[in-house]
Amino acid sequence: MYDRTNSLKPSLNLENPQDREVMASHLLDLLDILEVEHQKPDDTLVYSTTYQLLMVTILLTQSSEDVVNVVARELFSLYPTPELMVAAPRRELERLIQSCGFYRQKAKYMQESSKILLEKYDGIFPQTLIELTQFPGIARKTANQFLAQAFNIAEGIVVDTHVHRVSNRLGISEGKSASKVEHDLVRITESKHRILVSELFMAHGQKVCYIHEPMCGNCAVSHLCRYAAAERDKSVPT
Ligand code: SF4
Repeated sequence: MYDRTNSLKPSLNLENPQDREVMASHLLDLLDILEVEHQKPDDTLVYSTTYQLLMVTILLTQSSEDVVNVVARELFSLYPTPELMVAAPRRELERLIQSCGFYRQKAKYMQESSKILLEKYDGIFPQTLIELTQFPGIARKTANQFLAQAFNIAEGIVVDTHVHRVSNRLGISEGKSASKVEHDLVRITESKHRILVSELFMAHGQKVCYIHEPMCGNCAVSHLCRYAAAERDKSVPT
């Protein structure tokens, strides 16, 4: 095992091309290891068209995949297309998606987004972040997720709470906001790796780098982690 954490002092400045190169190479080392650790999970969400994926994306906010999948089966058996969704009685829609939480807001977003898709885009999805974030219920993070899943396009990088935490601890970004972390990650990540970065950091945050008790002793990238290096330093007797 080698220790590269010394090269990740907080003084690294991503405005500087040399520092950026160091960080980009560090990130590639991390991805190589994390890719082996966290095999890409199968897409387990229930949807069969791009349109249905958008509806599922709206439902997933503050809800779990398991709950959304149960709802999606019945929902799409009744309202599989934007035309049918727009025409659905609002109360009926709210009843169907109630278990996903925030159901009144989500039902509204689903119908409004369906209407925009039909009226503004003639049923053909736009494929840019700026256009997708105009759909009600689709924020930057969810638009990134949707673009990656539906079209394999990575304009930005999805930064959820796990990606944020793992990026901070590994020393990839000191950003306090998700948008700053995304900005830093984008600067050092080739577009072909952007989807992978968020998938692997998410998986690592969910399975190993827990918020309260990260499993540094069992972590495959602890030798590349600034947080783990700082913890080791603390435990060295002075
Ligand atoms: S060493 Fe610890 S803090 Fe660093 S990534 Fe692994 S689990 Fe997270």
